[in-house]
Amino acid sequence: MAKETHEFQAETKQLLDLMVHSIYTNHEIFLRELISNASDAIDKLHYQSLTNGDLLEGDTAFEIHLTPDADAHTLTISDNGLGMNKQDLMENLGTIAQSGTKAFLEKLKEAQDADSTDKDLIGQFGVGFYSAFMVASKVELVTKKAGSELPAVKWTSSGEGSYEIDADARTEQGTTITLHLKDDAAQYLDSWKIGEIVRRY
Ligand code: ADP
Repeated sequence: MAKETHEFQAETKQLLDLMVHSIYTNHEIFLRELISNASDAIDKLHYQSLTNGDLLEGDTAFEIHLTPDADAHTLTISDNGLGMNKQDLMENLGTIAQSGTKAFLEKLKEAQDADSTDKDLIGQFGVGFYSAFMVASKVELVTKKAGSELPAVKWTSSGEGSYEIDADARTEQGTTITLHLKDDAAQYLDSWKIGEIVRRY
């Protein structure tokens, strides 16, 4: 598979624009959103493995890892859940399937100053992943779907209108998301701070 560049759907662009320019003050909820996605992916694989034990490939310890790298200025969130193939990726992270997106964008604008509503709005409308762009100038996601013969896929975007998709050599099922943190998001390199956010949500 050769590298491909795809445009985000118009609504996704609008949403990304809001995330990139951070109308939220409560940036740290990105972590809850990404951990919640990782946990959902693990639940899905666990459920499917009840009828198809081979899916686990002997890896029965479900885990989510958060790894800060101060030198690279990155925070990595990885899970050994269901993962995604190329089609899943394009459907899930290129478009916003929910018809409520427009309503969400409107509510979001209304809530710009109302900090307390942040937590409820994101997630409720299924835009959790994009909150990564509140803290990251570039997001790389490598994923391999459990039980699939297809190669792993890498998704990369700086949240500015388009994303790239390429093949990746990863062999283990699951998903790894690398956030290239913005300069002002260096606090998410601190394990203590990360632990504190995880406990709070
Ligand atoms: P939501 O989680 O509310 O559906 P998101 O934008 O956060 O919205 O995620 C969109 C979709 O992308 C998810 O529904 C899921 O199918 C897929 N996805 C996101 N993160 C992961 C992950 N870590 N592993 C597998 N699939 C994921």
